Parts: sequence; C-alpha cells; structure tokens
Amino acid sequence: MIGRTAALFLVLLTCLTAQDKVKNIIILIGDGMGLNAVSLEFLKDQNSPYYSFPFTGLSVTTSADKLITDSAAGATAISTGTKTKNGYVGVGPSGTRLKTVFEYADDAGKSTGLAVTSTITHATPGAFFGHVSDRGKQDVLAVDLLNSSVDVALGSGSSYFIPASAGGRRTDNRNIISELRAKGYYITTTYADLVSTEVNDKLVAFLDSVELPSAKERGFSLGDLTGMAIHKLNTNKNGFVLMVEGSQIDWYAHDNDTVKIFQEMEDFTSAVRRALEFAKKDGRTLVIVTADHETGGLAVNKGNFTDPAYTLRYTTKSHTAGAVPVFAFGPGSSNFTGLYHNDELGKRIIRLIKTEKLKIKNY
Ligand SMILES: [Zn+2]
Repeated sequence: MIGRTAALFLVLLTCLTAQDKVKNIIILIGDGMGLNAVSLEFLKDQNSPYYSFPFTGLSVTTSADKLITDSAAGATAISTGTKTKNGYVGVGPSGTRLKTVFEYADDAGKSTGLAVTSTITHATPGAFFGHVSDRGKQDVLAVDLLNSSVDVALGSGSSYFIPASAGGRRTDNRNIISELRAKGYYITTTYADLVSTEVNDKLVAFLDSVELPSAKERGFSLGDLTGMAIHKLNTNKNGFVLMVEGSQIDWYAHDNDTVKIFQEMEDFTSAVRRALEFAKKDGRTLVIVTADHETGGLAVNKGNFTDPAYTLRYTTKSHTAGAVPVFAFGPGSSNFTGLYHNDELGKRIIRLIKTEKLKIKNY
C-alpha cells in the first residue's frame, strides 16, 4: 500500500515537472514598442492576443552608458543578460564576447531560429548570434551568422553576404552565401519558394537584398514567417528557441507615421497570435513578448473604439527611456512578473534554458 502511494506520488511529481518544463521558447520583440503602441492593438480588439497572457512585467531599458538605449544595447541585454554600451552587439561594455541565449540553447541541444522584418544582420537579430562592438558592421555580423549554429534565419539583407564584385556590399571578396551553402544551408530569396520548400534542416531566407518594404507591401505577414519558423524548428525533440522581431515599428515611430505604426503593430500582433496558437497546443512552449525600448514618446489621444482611428501624439522622433511591457505565457511564465531591468529579463530566460539542460541530464 505504501509502495503504491509512493509510486502514485512519483507519477504526480513527474507530471508536475513535465508541465513546468520549458521545451521551447519564443521571444517576440517589437522594436520601439512601448505600452502605448501595444495599446493600439488591445484597445481596438477585445479578443486581442495580449489579453491571453497570464503574467506581465515591466522592463527598464537603460543601457550601460546611457539613460536612453539603442536597439543594439537593448537587444544585447535581453539576449545575454548583460547591459552594454549603445551600438554594441553581443559584447560587454569593454568589448568582451558575451554568451547569448542562442548559444545557451545550443548547449542544451535545442535548435535556434529568427524571423525578422529587417536585415538578418540588423542589431536586434545580430545580438542573438553575433559579437561586434559596432552595429554598423553588418558584414561582420554576416560572418558571425555563418560561424553560429542558427538553424533558421528569415529576414532580408543578402547584400551584406555578397562581395561588391558580385553586386553586394562586402569589401573582403568573400561570398558568405556560397559559404553558407557549403555548410549545408538551403538559401532562398523568395517567399513563394520558402512556402513550397520542405526543408527541415538549416535554412536562410533573404526576402530582399537590402531592407524589406513596410507591412502592407511585403506580401506576407510576420505571422506567416513565425509559423514557418516554428514549423521548421519544431522537429528537434530537445526543443527550440525562436526570436521574432517586428523590426519596423521603430522605424515608423521615428517618422511619427501613425498609419504605418498601426500597420506594423498589426503585423507584429499576427506573429504574437501565431506563437500563442502553437504554445497553447504544444503545452511546453514559453512565449515572451517585449520590446527593446520605446520610440516616439507615443501617446494615444482622442478617438473611439469602433473606428480605431485614434489620434497619436509624439514627444520625440527618437527613443525614450520609458519602461516597456513584458507579456509571458506558458511554462515558466510566472518568472516574468514585476519590475526589473532588461538584463534581468535576459538572465531569467537564460536560467530557464539552463534549468532545462539540468533536467535533461537528471532524467
Ligand atoms: Zn530606433
């Protein structure tokens, strides 16, 4: 009888542990997306996915050297758990290489991927696989991608991978696309090909040679890219870590372009919805939605609920120091409540990946 009770207890304990286990992590970053930008979505739609997150927090976005961060330092804090100087990507304030969330995921046997609406070598995605003290060096970040273990990279910017002699921007005469192919990557340059090609291994999609057009002109949504990335990454039994960025929210906030901000927020939200749909079915996926910083000092002014034509007001054409929201869903999501700095946000993500690794070993 005692044996049976003990056995039952063990089964129960195993179930609880299994439920708590974070197999996959999807980090969605709205570049420049402050709380008022997210409000545009949850004010107009009572079924907005943002209402589905049981845990929310606030992230303080200051960088190591400035009150107001840029995307490089903001993303590096999230991707490495360390604050750095503005402009620095995946390196500390003294230029030392920092270990990234993707590199920890790799140690745990997980696949990694990114889906962005900027160049793949832009500051935010770059901070997850690259290490350079000047975010402008996208050609260096292209080599870092080649040397990384990233499995799936969907975005744009093939010109940083192609030598100037062949129409690209590289001055070292290397063709990183050929080198990626030699390493076993499938390279595609069109969305149609991306959809129709069943590749479950390594994949890089350059959907434009430079930057992608804005949401309405892209011909696909960030939700589409997110769904595709999940589909490709979800074949690894150890799980995956995926970073998704709504890169252009920031760009139109810099322009104080209200219509385009709406469109980019809608596009980003399609990715949030897609990630949540997967996580709800999967049961072992943690979804985190946050931003690297706020842009525009945006505020929602006069308008109405039925016609989401709110008047937006801005205090600046730059970034601000406003704290940004953190939404969390799934196993481990309770770790993300409270007010904390962006490096702490990164540390909490890394801790969950490392815990998972220990659990695998214990089994
Ligand atoms: Zn910006």
